[in-house]
Amino acid sequence: MRYLLTKLTVAFIAVGLSAGCTSAAKNGIAGESQPVSDSDRSLSIATQDVTLNKGDLPLSNSVKWQTMSKEYQTIARGTYQLAEKAIMQMEKPAEPWVVVMDIDETVLDNSAYQVGLDTTGESYSKAGWANWVKSEKATLTPGAATFIEIVLREGGKIGLITNRDASLNEHTWRNLLEHGLPLTAQNACLLGRSQADITAVDNESFLNDKDLRRSHIASGNAKCFKPNNSTVTWNKSHKIVMQIGDNIEDFKQVTQEHADVDVVLTELNKTLFLLPNPMYGSW
Ligand SMILES: [Mg+2]
Repeated sequence: MRYLLTKLTVAFIAVGLSAGCTSAAKNGIAGESQPVSDSDRSLSIATQDVTLNKGDLPLSNSVKWQTMSKEYQTIARGTYQLAEKAIMQMEKPAEPWVVVMDIDETVLDNSAYQVGLDTTGESYSKAGWANWVKSEKATLTPGAATFIEIVLREGGKIGLITNRDASLNEHTWRNLLEHGLPLTAQNACLLGRSQADITAVDNESFLNDKDLRRSHIASGNAKCFKPNNSTVTWNKSHKIVMQIGDNIEDFKQVTQEHADVDVVLTELNKTLFLLPNPMYGSW
C-alpha cells in the first residue's frame, strides 16, 4: 500500500525501506538560507503523536548515506573528536569565550524527516518543516553531545545559531534538552532566524544571514532565547573561538557563491569544523 500510516522511529529508518535510489539530494530543506517556497503538499506529520505518511518510494542515495552508512558516523564523530582536541589544547582567552554551532545536521539530526520526504515523494515545505520542528523528535548528530560537554567543562559557552525560525525556539530548545544536553540560559544562547537577520545582509559587513547574530554574540547584544522566562542575558562581549556547521555559510562572512575554499582550508579543523550533509544545503 502506497501510503501506510506508520510510526516514525529509528527502526523505521533502518528496516522499513526498500534499498533503491532514485532521487537526487534535495538542497532546499530545513531552514537553510536560500529562498524556499511553501507547498500545499506538506507531510502529514501529527505534532502530538509523531507519525507521517510513509510511502513505498525508495530512499535517495543521500539519505541512505546519512542514515545507514558507517562512513557518515565515522566522519561526524571524527570531526567532533578533532574539535574536542582543539578546544582542550587551546589557550583559553581571559574574556568569556564561545563556540558557535549550527543546529540542523550539526547538533540535531533530522534525517527521519528526510526519510519521510523521500518515501512519500513529498518536497520540503515551510509548513511541513515547522510541524517536524514542533514534534521535537530530531535525534542527536553523532559526536555532538560529548563535544558540547567538553566545551562547557573547559569553561566555554555554546552559541546556537540556527536558521530554524525564531518563533520555533521553544521547540528547538526542548528538543535539545530532551537528549540530556546540559544546556542552560547561562551557558547557551539559542538564536533562531528572524527577518532582521535576512535584511541585515548587505554584502559588506554581513555577507550571510548568520553574520548579524554572530556579531551580536561577539558584542554582547545577542537576544538569546530565554527558557522558562529566564532573566539571564548575554550582555557581555564574547570571543568566538570556533565555528561548527554542515553548511559553508555556518562560517562568518562566507557565502556559498563566493566561498574561497583555499581560505576556509587554512582554518579547517582548527577553528572551523564542517560536518557532512549530502541531503540538503545552500548549494
Ligand atoms: Mg545545518
